Amino acid sequence: MITGFNFKKKFGQNFISDKNLLSAIVADSGIDNNSQVLEIGAGAGTLTEQLAQVASKVVAIEIDKDLTPYLQLLCDRHKNITLIFDDFMRVSKETIEEHFDKKFDVVANLPYYITTPIIFRLIEEGFNINSLTIMVQKEVAERFVADCNCKEYGAVSVMLQSQADLKITRVVPRSMFYPQPNVDSAVINIKINPNKYNISNKENFSKVVKTAFNYRRKTLCNALQLGLNIDRESAEKMIASIGLPVNIRGEKLTIQQFIDLSNYL
Ligand code: SAH
Repeated sequence: MITGFNFKKKFGQNFISDKNLLSAIVADSGIDNNSQVLEIGAGAGTLTEQLAQVASKVVAIEIDKDLTPYLQLLCDRHKNITLIFDDFMRVSKETIEEHFDKKFDVVANLPYYITTPIIFRLIEEGFNINSLTIMVQKEVAERFVADCNCKEYGAVSVMLQSQADLKITRVVPRSMFYPQPNVDSAVINIKINPNKYNISNKENFSKVVKTAFNYRRKTLCNALQLGLNIDRESAEKMIASIGLPVNIRGEKLTIQQFIDLSNYL
């Protein structure tokens, strides 16, 4: 474990040092010696090092400059690591992608305070990625993979499952991290699959999904009127067009039904 370092809660610093767990995460990612990898939140570089031993190239982004001495040592040992000291949310897509000459994979033990924004940035900005293998809070992973009709099913489940294949590869108890967080974690593998469904307009799709779940206590018909600013008659017509009862609630729709609804727009 690294000594003399002041862990910063505000950056979600919960480090992993267990070699078996680190190599299991790398194995879950499916990367090989042809892979190019982006790591977000390098910490003291324990995962970075394992990634560098397998992949042809690793670009690691870390917000906390106090970690420089640890990460610099690592770069001296592994010439295939590039470090970027910055906030991932503020680095431009071009700055990141200029380090890669083909589709890359994201592998990371993500800072929990910003998990969902990071994932959505990668997917919605259309980064040139094959897959994400990320450690997230267990409850968050469960929401990502939730099926229609279960209470964890939400806009995030629909948005991710509509364009990727998701799998929780392992549950990781809180005791595996230092400092120990208050929650357990899970590793989730997200394989981008743009042809999984036929979504004619991504913006409409995302709008319909967000609308349906933003007004959870209302019927889909009421939600659509409010969210899309349309009258009752048009909302009812939309719902009937995909063969659903007009009093249905948004959270009852399958991914295909959300797509049908947004394609109707
Ligand atoms: N990969 C390391 C550290 C994981 S903890 C390990 O597994 O041990 C999460 C790391 O993300 C911390 O080092 C934290 O400083 C960094 N971090 C937090 N917010 C960030 C951001 N916005 N951009 C880049 N790195 C960030």
